[in-house]
Amino acid sequence: MDFGLWTDMFADLHLHTNFSDGTYTPEELASQAARQQLAAIALTDHDTVEGCERAANACKALEIEFISGAELTAEHNENEIHILGYFLDTQNQTLLSEISKFQAVRQKRIYEMVARLNELNVPLRSEDVFALANCRSPGRPHVARALVKAGLCGSLDEAFERFLKKHRPAWVPKAKISALVAIELIHQANGLAVMAHPGLNRSDEVIPELVESGLDGIECFHTKHSTAISEHYLEIADKFNLLVTGGSDCHGMSKGKPLIGTVKVPYQHVQKLKSRAAEIKSSAAAPRA
Ligand code: AMP
Ligand code: FE
Ligand code: FE
Ligand code: ZN
Repeated sequence: MDFGLWTDMFADLHLHTNFSDGTYTPEELASQAARQQLAAIALTDHDTVEGCERAANACKALEIEFISGAELTAEHNENEIHILGYFLDTQNQTLLSEISKFQAVRQKRIYEMVARLNELNVPLRSEDVFALANCRSPGRPHVARALVKAGLCGSLDEAFERFLKKHRPAWVPKAKISALVAIELIHQANGLAVMAHPGLNRSDEVIPELVESGLDGIECFHTKHSTAISEHYLEIADKFNLLVTGGSDCHGMSKGKPLIGTVKVPYQHVQKLKSRAAEIKSSAAAPRA
């Protein structure tokens, strides 16, 4: 295959919108992708695919290739692992029904976090968090933003440091799907399953088992991966014959400046992903022996 054609084309394959904890609408995300001259983007909101249709339409108008995705909150042997799904059939009923359960738990978790804050005499109201989040997949960043908006914390960092970080007083664990089930769920929706930001979890020991269960790829390039960490996971990708992905994990303006386009992969990786996705789709369509 001649990859020379695509040397000046790049993709950001890890992006969030306001359908989860990003601040951009799908249309704003597409225009930012155009500003960054990206050839392709994937939307990977937490536990939802709802933004994909609008993002796909907006990208089409801007001649940007769009990949439907999601970032599923999963675990394996008590390690939290995020599994990215790419090329998902966003109408797949099994996928939609499974993620709706996770969304219900995320919503319940907002009430629990607010109750803990109230016990600490922090007078935040859950309706203010839901009004601000305005999505089915709310999370801690929405609670943090509501705390800042209500003048109860000076910054998002302060909100996380004082209350929301793991083991801080208002932290409530999230429901997690088994990583092996997540991979299966993604595959039955014609998608590719990719381990997100492995450098953040540093649980490399789970990789062989995930590969055994059909993991297709690994996110080697990520905002929080140093060059050495990216190289480490490129070696792992090579060893296990995994596809390579990467992206900025942009959450819009939530951290002051948007990250979209700051981490991007050469388009040849998208081409490889597309070939593998087509294989999965054709094997799913083939009659069983
Ligand atoms: P949740 O999915 O509700 O547990 O929230 C996780 C999200 O919170 C991550 O995807 C990040 O976007 C954000 N987050 C986690 N830790 C921090 C932090 N210390 N400061 C700001 N945002 C954070
Ligand atoms: Fe997030
Ligand atoms: Fe993540
Ligand atoms: Zn993410």
